[in-house]
Amino acid sequence: MEPKFLADSMLGKLARWLILLGYDASYAQGQGQTDLELLEVAHREGRVFLTRDTKIPAVEGLRMIVVRTQRFEDQLKQLQRELGLKPDRKRLFTRCTYCNAALDELTREQALPLVPPLVRELKTPFFRCPSCKRMYWNGTHTERTIKKLEKLGL
Ligand SMILES: [Zn+2]
Repeated sequence: MEPKFLADSMLGKLARWLILLGYDASYAQGQGQTDLELLEVAHREGRVFLTRDTKIPAVEGLRMIVVRTQRFEDQLKQLQRELGLKPDRKRLFTRCTYCNAALDELTREQALPLVPPLVRELKTPFFRCPSCKRMYWNGTHTERTIKKLEKLGL
């Protein structure tokens, strides 16, 4: 089974990269949840808890990873090492990086009225987040992301 994640508010960028890779990774968006509350959520939902806080006590039945580096590249490598993550290319860009919701694929007819004129010319599948309604498509940003992931050996 693929791991699911919950990241504390210091690790939002790492969480968004995990989401890009297709992992279910929610993160605390600074609503002032305490570490303890986050731990409880992670425990209840069976998520690996990712934190920068070295003082959090171990909790029975909860997998916690203390991230010790600043750069998300190093952070991803740490997760790869410790969890043996093998991201599946097919799952890239399947979730909303704002909400962590699984995206719905739209037909071109459904999508065209919802995207900017230039984007309508692109040969790409279109996706929409069921939660925030953001639209996603393949463009230069996806190519850049894939290059970056390849450089990281993912
Ligand atoms: Zn969304």
